[in-house]
Amino acid sequence: MSKLFAINDKPTIIAGPCSAESRQQLLAVAESVVQEPRISMMRFGVWKPRTRPGGFEGMGEPALQWAKELKDKYPSLRLCCEVARPEHVELCLQYGIDAVWIGARTSVNPFIVGELAEALRGTPLAVMVKNPITPDISLWLGAIERIQQAGVDDIAAIHRGFSTYNNFGYRNNPLWEIPIELKRRLPEMPLLCDPRHIGGRRDLVAPLAQMALDLHYDGLIVECHPDPDNALTDSAQQITPDELREMLDSLRPRTYNETGPSDLQRMREQLDVIDAEILRLLGQRMNISKDIGTIKRAHNMPIFQPHRWQQVLDRQMQAATDIGLDPEFVRELTEKIHSESLRVQK
Ligand code: PEP
Ligand code: MN
Repeated sequence: MSKLFAINDKPTIIAGPCSAESRQQLLAVAESVVQEPRISMMRFGVWKPRTRPGGFEGMGEPALQWAKELKDKYPSLRLCCEVARPEHVELCLQYGIDAVWIGARTSVNPFIVGELAEALRGTPLAVMVKNPITPDISLWLGAIERIQQAGVDDIAAIHRGFSTYNNFGYRNNPLWEIPIELKRRLPEMPLLCDPRHIGGRRDLVAPLAQMALDLHYDGLIVECHPDPDNALTDSAQQITPDELREMLDSLRPRTYNETGPSDLQRMREQLDVIDAEILRLLGQRMNISKDIGTIKRAHNMPIFQPHRWQQVLDRQMQAATDIGLDPEFVRELTEKIHSESLRVQK
């Protein structure tokens, strides 16, 4: 079978509901998916990893039965769902699923990824590996390597953002530099973006999707539901099939020519995105500084506290060494940021 995630000049678009909820819901989505040539595969959750207990945890095997009915009705329709246990892989095979993904709460655990890799060994399933919830590129690479070592050759990576102390207004902090580094290390591995799990809000799906295409991602995985407001999971971030079509219409295609974009052009685009991110973070830092200034004034504290400044500088100098940045450069940068911070606190 040809590879589902081959890199070519058209982005791979995967769409479908967060969770399979009913036969009718799956049928309704499948009908719009088969009519949309830009969508290459339909997704749905069968077993849902919920952060807190008590929510809808997926329909389980009956959802796979509906999926099989979809396959009978639309033989060319490709289907994928999340697996978290070896038994899930067995069931997916039994019901003719084409591809599976390993979720962010699973790719973080080498033991479970190892078990899944063994279950996937020798199967025709294509596999997508979501980034682990923690911003650790080695864990992500390690999960991909475990699947590769099991002999799976159709693998893609999915960037769905990271859980950090402050997610800066996103549901999951994108930390674009991590997937960009993954792509640099694994240029042959298709990289898909999951803009809805990054943004967590309908209005952020399109801009994040565009950002991913501008960064030369190879595709998108998007949640769509016939009635998003009443979805049993992730209702705030799902869009209707019509809205999905409008979004696909609105996306600017990657600029492609016969020889492909030059490396220089691609890297410069990446730098532009990182520069914008640096400024956005600086803006956020200064806003916090302003609030700190207000508190200091209210408590009659001096704006400049040498002990605190020494702590900040020491921490940054240590981080500079750890990251391999020139310490003098980081000292100057930190001093500049600090003096601007003192200015806005006044
Ligand atoms: C999902 O795709 O529905 C999902 C649960 O994703 P993640 O593992 O990224 O949270
Ligand atoms: Mn979801």
